[in-house]
Amino acid sequence: MKAKFVCRLSSVFCLAVALAASAADVKYQDFKWEKDTLVPFGATTTVTLECPDPAAAKWLASHYKEWYGDAAPKVVAGATGLKVDGGDEAYAASTDADGVKIAANTLAGVRWASYTLRQLAIAKRSTFKTDGYLLPKLTTKDRPHLAFRAVHLCCFPETRIQQIERAIRLAALMKFNYAIIEPWGMYKSEKHPWWPWPNAYLTKAEVKRLVAIGKDIGITLIPQVNCYGHASSARGCTIKHCTLDIHPEYEPLYEPGGWCWCISNPETQRVLRELIAEIHEDFGNPPFFHIGCDEAFGAQSCPECVKTPHAELAIRHFNGLAEFLKSRGARAMMWHDMLLEKSDRRWDGFIKFGRKDAPSILDGLSKDIVICDWQYWDKTKGKDGKDWPTISHFAEKGFSVAGCPWTNYKAMMPMANHLVKINGFGFVETTWHHLRGKDWENMYKHGAHAAWGSPVSHDVSFQRSLRLVGNDMKVTDYLDTGYLSNQIPPGWWAH
Ligand SMILES: [Zn+2]
Repeated sequence: MKAKFVCRLSSVFCLAVALAASAADVKYQDFKWEKDTLVPFGATTTVTLECPDPAAAKWLASHYKEWYGDAAPKVVAGATGLKVDGGDEAYAASTDADGVKIAANTLAGVRWASYTLRQLAIAKRSTFKTDGYLLPKLTTKDRPHLAFRAVHLCCFPETRIQQIERAIRLAALMKFNYAIIEPWGMYKSEKHPWWPWPNAYLTKAEVKRLVAIGKDIGITLIPQVNCYGHASSARGCTIKHCTLDIHPEYEPLYEPGGWCWCISNPETQRVLRELIAEIHEDFGNPPFFHIGCDEAFGAQSCPECVKTPHAELAIRHFNGLAEFLKSRGARAMMWHDMLLEKSDRRWDGFIKFGRKDAPSILDGLSKDIVICDWQYWDKTKGKDGKDWPTISHFAEKGFSVAGCPWTNYKAMMPMANHLVKINGFGFVETTWHHLRGKDWENMYKHGAHAAWGSPVSHDVSFQRSLRLVGNDMKVTDYLDTGYLSNQIPPGWWAH
């Protein structure tokens, strides 16, 4: 089956795979350190920065002040003698007794270099309070595997906004450059106040604050609105619905039961466009917008939708949203599962929920849409294209495709390597309701490593990195420390 599939690939695509394969084998990162040779890093240290962007030196100096206070090293622009490989995000750095050198082509590269060093800096020893830092002696040059490296974060009603902020800041420190934010009924729309839960915490002011933080630290926030399935904005296992449980008068916008939007109703398209426009603007009009569209079970079940072929309805709905986003300067992203026919044996062992008409929907889908192929099983691991047939399928059809793992840690690096080989769009680490405890640590560590192509931390604990971002936020609440809110379940002593 797999051999047959490969034979069907066009010769142009095969050539692209062959050319890209040699590039994927290049080891980007060259990290050499003398772990036990420590050099001072403090107010008397000079950091020489070589970067064509004049804003970079200012950014670095202001962040050193934020991170190190009175012990902030001095930043001077100048030649470093370091060689930086091509690419906007590439960087090189060195530390020794004479000081620190950083070279990069853009501010993005400067950020990643500074995060590598920040993770490694420890407080100088033998004092009561911190009075300067120490860095290991090292030289490194680095650039990422994939240009688009995202985490997908869920703002559940049960999630504290501080948790989301820590997750965004930590993702940047671990060198992800995008965060897809799914509001789960927690975006407080002013245009459609009936849509979210009444206690929605993602207000305009809060969204703008998080977006500004992201912009400063190098991570672009991408909003999401589920525009087909998951219209309840609540996990299916709860049978909650953020709108219909409180505002039943909006029933015509949804299929019976409320899990899917009613896509034959023109009011649905109007409402979704208005929500997208409002949210997109609040997020600073980023270049991408996720329209969800996974697990659309029970779609086309109302008396009006059944009058039109499902593929026709779906294509009109998806492409209409994509076209609207294009007019706003953004590309739509959507989950892949309804675009693969469930009974198609070629995808056995992979996630696929589509109806019989899935192939015709895919054929009619706008190529402007980025397909996010979520595959969550370690059994998909492999080293060549044959092991990722769904990703290859979408690429062969001419789509930009992102690979999206979850807690299938062993599959992450092979998936990322395959994406590089086929010149895939990028990598989206999904987290869902597992952004807690050891799962949080493993999703970020393995996901970042795979997306970057090499370690983003060097013998640095997740605990230390998480504490750094909490310190940046100046957290004082017990609940906002560690990777669990409580060490004993609340109410444990009540009975
Ligand atoms: Zn309908």
